[in-house]
Amino acid sequence: MALINLHTMKYSKPSLFLFFLLTTISCKAQWSAELITTPEKTNYHETSTYADVMNVIKAVQEQSDLMHLEYMGTSLEGKQIPVVVMADPMVTSPEQAKASGKPVIYIQGNIHSGEVEGKEILQILMREILLGDKQHLLDNQIVLFAPIYNADSNDKMEQGRRPSQEDSPVKVGIRANSQGWDLNRDGIKMEAKETNALIQNVITKWDPEVFVDLHTTNGTWHGYSLTWAPSYHYAGEKGPYRLTWDDMLPSITEKVQEKYDVHLGPYGGYSLRQGWPPKAIYTYNHHPRYLVNQMGLRNKIGILSEAFAHERFYQRMNSTYAFVAEILEYTRENGEEIARVNDEAERNAIRNVQEHAGEMKKGVRFNKTPMDETFTLRTYEYIPYKNEEGEDRYVRSGNIIEVPGVQNYSKFEATVESTLPRGYIIPGELKGIADHLKKQGAEVKQLEAPVEASGEVFTVTKLERSSREFEGHYMVRAEGSFAEISREFEAGDYWVDLAQPLANLIFYTLEPQSDDGLVTWNFFDDYFEANGIEEGSVEYPVFKYYELD
Ligand SMILES: [Zn+2]
Repeated sequence: MALINLHTMKYSKPSLFLFFLLTTISCKAQWSAELITTPEKTNYHETSTYADVMNVIKAVQEQSDLMHLEYMGTSLEGKQIPVVVMADPMVTSPEQAKASGKPVIYIQGNIHSGEVEGKEILQILMREILLGDKQHLLDNQIVLFAPIYNADSNDKMEQGRRPSQEDSPVKVGIRANSQGWDLNRDGIKMEAKETNALIQNVITKWDPEVFVDLHTTNGTWHGYSLTWAPSYHYAGEKGPYRLTWDDMLPSITEKVQEKYDVHLGPYGGYSLRQGWPPKAIYTYNHHPRYLVNQMGLRNKIGILSEAFAHERFYQRMNSTYAFVAEILEYTRENGEEIARVNDEAERNAIRNVQEHAGEMKKGVRFNKTPMDETFTLRTYEYIPYKNEEGEDRYVRSGNIIEVPGVQNYSKFEATVESTLPRGYIIPGELKGIADHLKKQGAEVKQLEAPVEASGEVFTVTKLERSSREFEGHYMVRAEGSFAEISREFEAGDYWVDLAQPLANLIFYTLEPQSDDGLVTWNFFDDYFEANGIEEGSVEYPVFKYYELD
């Protein structure tokens, strides 16, 4: 926003002054009361309820002919989850979006209902795009906002849910959904209604090129107002990742600093147990159970956004706003390039199966390692001291410093690789597995006649079960080995031709040694038990073929 410096105004030129004043003021619309969000109305003491969000959406819709409102699905408690589709001219279906040739950009807030910034700023940006000075963001792209993804838990507000946020806003909702699932760990098992709604009615139908998930951290006192991460999926194609990491995130970071004086940086935390100053930061991990990571296996761009929990609510909203606004400026400028890179990734994934099945290996388990280059970390400064027992302790100061030469553990190296097959065959009685792949968007057929297939079977010699419950599961790791074999399959068995757009996701989901596949999430437990895993080895029932006759 332009500022008027009255001291430099020359009163001898009133007409110029008046012109300047008018043009400045006309840049910002004057909103009617129903367009003002709950935090704006309450001096940032309160966050929007589901009804508040719907009221703002409906109020904007009344005044705009560029918005189509739909619902991705209904939550367990019966709340419809809104998706605001913004396009110029308006589109009301994925088919119209496809026909327009414009890339679709999807941004969601509130996957964790205690992390409310995304929910609020998506309402504000929607208001500005449709009724204010940001309509240019619809020049050559279609923008989808889902401000309140975890709708049920948003309204179960209580004080003290996010202690590191110093009760700003005073009350926020619950992290998990109404079934108790963390929606950002549900990407592979898909137990939540919300995940099914998102994957089937947004990701598969609208086919967004970019997926942005808006969160708020609760960890390290780094010196950024917001940290970001790309889709980390190293088993996917490299193109979308490279574009995100090498160009998109650095250039958005620069723009946000220039325009908003807000510092952004890479997601990750450090531990003072390793001493001061920090020598390394560590990100989370590569698993596709996280939706942003899964987008990499879907040949798309995923971006994680984490507002800094230790700033005040209005500041966290401001930095999330700045990041999202500049993501949309970037996608507006580079939409064609993004779509080209994603399309090429999809073609590569298919070509690898067609041309290199049986030879090419891809990672199915990964380890976190440092990136090749170090970086300069912004962080709050800590002052070391010795306590009365003579042990090293640290107290945080209010000063933000830069620490050069810090390693960034956000690279993932395969520790176990598996051969890429031409496809998989699943026995007819394991319909649940076939149905699950279809829910993810995969194409699964049934054999119409018997076939002879040559390929590999995996014999499970040991199942290691986690002793700690996680998301209602005792997760499983299968150890064993592959052996080459030819086998006959019957009509009615399920057949997955891997030469399809979701090749990389299907591979990661079905490989028996995968660290985040269906074996991991207990989908084969009953089968293994029924076939005597307690007593000895069991053959993994999904056959991996290299050739079909
Ligand atoms: Zn979160």
